[in-house]
Amino acid sequence: MYIISACLLGENCKYNGGNNYCEWVAEFARRHSYVTVCPETRAGLPAPRPPAEIVGDQVLDAEGRDLTADFIRGAFQSYKEAKETARKAGETIEGAILKAKSPSCGKDRIYDGTFSGRLTDGDGHLVRLLKEDNIDVITEKENIEHD
Ligand code: SF4
Repeated sequence: MYIISACLLGENCKYNGGNNYCEWVAEFARRHSYVTVCPETRAGLPAPRPPAEIVGDQVLDAEGRDLTADFIRGAFQSYKEAKETARKAGETIEGAILKAKSPSCGKDRIYDGTFSGRLTDGDGHLVRLLKEDNIDVITEKENIEHD
C-alpha cells in the first residue's frame, strides 16, 4: 500500500484552500492500493491557512506563529494511521508519493524558511519519519514507471 499526499489526488487541503492534483499520481492510484494523508489538516489546521515553512528547527507560518508541535503531531498521526490502514488490509507500506517542497511532505528539497519561493536541502516532517523506517519516497516531480 502506498501513502499519497491527499492534495495530489485533488483534495482541497492545501494552505490556500486548493489542491495540487497530478494526473500521473491519480493514474497510479487507480492501479495500486493507497491511503491518502494530509499531515497539516490531520493536526487540525484549517484550509485555507497561512503558508508555513521550516525555519531552523521550528515550523513557522507567514504570520510568525510557531506550528512546530502541530506539524510533528500531524506527521506522526498520519503515518501511524496509514500503517494501521495497511495492517488492517493485510498489507505493508511499500512507498510514498508526496508533494514536493512542502514542510510536511517535501523530500530532499524544501522551502528555505524565507517565504520567498527559494529552496534548501531538507525533508518535511512526514518524510523524516518515513526515511527513518526506510520507506521509499518520491514526489510528484519524479514520475516513475508503473504498470
Ligand atoms: S500537508 Fe502534504 S498533503 Fe497536506 S496540503 Fe500540504 S503537501 Fe498536501
